[in-house]
Amino acid sequence: MQEQELQKLREIILNAKNLVFFGGAGVSTESGIPDFRSVDGLYSQKYDNIPPEVIISHSYFVKHTDKFFKFYKDKMLCLDAKPNAAHLKLAELEEAGILSAIVTQNIDGLHQMAESRNVFELHGSVHRNYCQKCGKLFDARYILESESVPKCDKCGGIIKPDVVLYEEGLDSATVEGAIKAIQKADVLIVGGTSLNVYPAAGFLRYFHGKHLVIINRDETQADSMAELCIRDKIGEVLKQIEVPYE
Ligand code: ZN
Repeated sequence: MQEQELQKLREIILNAKNLVFFGGAGVSTESGIPDFRSVDGLYSQKYDNIPPEVIISHSYFVKHTDKFFKFYKDKMLCLDAKPNAAHLKLAELEEAGILSAIVTQNIDGLHQMAESRNVFELHGSVHRNYCQKCGKLFDARYILESESVPKCDKCGGIIKPDVVLYEEGLDSATVEGAIKAIQKADVLIVGGTSLNVYPAAGFLRYFHGKHLVIINRDETQADSMAELCIRDKIGEVLKQIEVPYE
């Protein structure tokens, strides 16, 4: 990134009255969490050539619950990951009264681990899991340590992660909260997402504020709409922003 871009970003952030951050998988890759949609060489063999979009669908969860959890534990539960520079800086900006909300497509809970408070998790969280029969709640560790399909220790029911699977709708209260936050924002920073994953791009049309900033390694659908576009890793960029304290 160029110093000029960075200077412009500093100016926008430090003058923001109500900043909202909208983030995707790229925010977590710097914490070592792979995008589960990326397919590696060993992948095909291990999961019978079934694409991830199929494995983490609602119907596959119902029909092939054991195979679903094999993939889920392997690819989606990364419980040793720690917040990176992006998570920490966003939490600092909230603490300083600049940032009002984070809207994320990630399910890893790293924003909360960094002590961000107002976080809308569009796709749910691996840290919430519930028994489909009696509703008892379980943490992610319980899922990881269970053999094959995790079952409730109270009633034996199958436990489902509170993660939005393909074919499932988003939680309406979460969507409403995210939209309201974006509508009120004067600055929207979109980071670590190419905006290709449904329904990410749709949220941008609720933004009527002054400054749209996009920080992503690759090109995105919304680059032409943005006032400032930085093609770099989100953590690398944000760690160069100094947060003022009164
Ligand atoms: Zn139960």
